[in-house]
Amino acid sequence: MPARSKRGILERLKSGPVLGAEGYVFELERRGYIKAGPYVPEVVLDAPDALRELHREFLRAGADVMVALTYYAHRGKLKDVGRENDLEAMNRQAVRIANEVARQGDALVAGDICNTWAYDPKNKDASSRVVRAMYEEQLSWAVEEGIDFVIAETNDYLGEALIALEVIKGLKLPAMVTLASTRPHQTWDGYDYVDACKILADHGADIVGMNCDRGPATMLPIIEQVRSRVSGYVAMQPVPYKTEAAMPTFESLKTADGTNVFPIALEPFLCTRFEMADYARRAQALGVNYIGICCGGSPHYVRAIAEALGRTVPSSKYSPAIELHPVIGTRVEEKEKEFLVDWKG
Ligand SMILES: [Zn+2]
Repeated sequence: MPARSKRGILERLKSGPVLGAEGYVFELERRGYIKAGPYVPEVVLDAPDALRELHREFLRAGADVMVALTYYAHRGKLKDVGRENDLEAMNRQAVRIANEVARQGDALVAGDICNTWAYDPKNKDASSRVVRAMYEEQLSWAVEEGIDFVIAETNDYLGEALIALEVIKGLKLPAMVTLASTRPHQTWDGYDYVDACKILADHGADIVGMNCDRGPATMLPIIEQVRSRVSGYVAMQPVPYKTEAAMPTFESLKTADGTNVFPIALEPFLCTRFEMADYARRAQALGVNYIGICCGGSPHYVRAIAEALGRTVPSSKYSPAIELHPVIGTRVEEKEKEFLVDWKG
């Protein structure tokens, strides 16, 4: 097992916010290494350098955690794309690559498990056994390759999240368990999101909260309630999209003519880096402990979040210096007017 980082996740959380960075699947899809639809991280075996590069970019942008790209690298999903035989190799290699890059900085490595699509509350006992076996095999490989803690994420069902939590606690590792939120107020098995976070914390999850689906505007109000109900650490990893009360999740975003944009025409709804920096400041003010980003995330957002939290990170060397722009930087009104043509005027 590789040498582990000296300061673990719980120690770091004690001394201040931890910066997470996710969105590997969406970003590597945009870069041409993952197929939209199945979203299986075949890149781990097919183009490991592309994955290494994205890890490095997140590290340079200030991420405190390298999350092993094992999202959807479970038996069920790999079967769907005919790569069941690559299951172990894909899981092991993802953790190895995360470790390799984490050691280039001072980052932790998180093993990652997620919603399986196999959990069925109507057939709870049998489906729970299937889910548990998937988590156990993924995490047994991750532990052998070396991880600092585990993130169980994008959980649609509290029942499935509790299975993940049990498996993680069985391995004696810190557990971060976060919920998906595709429905207005409740998990798919009918628990209010805030209650579900409390139940997870009461069952021993070290960090609870939400990830994916919602942008900062529609996730913050729920997280605020979670913060007031849970005494332990709280995590928040929204998607960088402009969700709003009428379209609270990125799955529900529609253009003016009513066309759905999820998942591959979301660009018109992207937040700016300033909006993501603003989110980070609000999350910190609320007392959120693990502040991150999910699908849609990319390194410039992570740097903006890091800087909003008061950090200078390796890629800050190239942070904007708009005052040096030949026209906009001059603040000479006449020159600027000519350059920034107001088409409506
Ligand atoms: Zn996501």
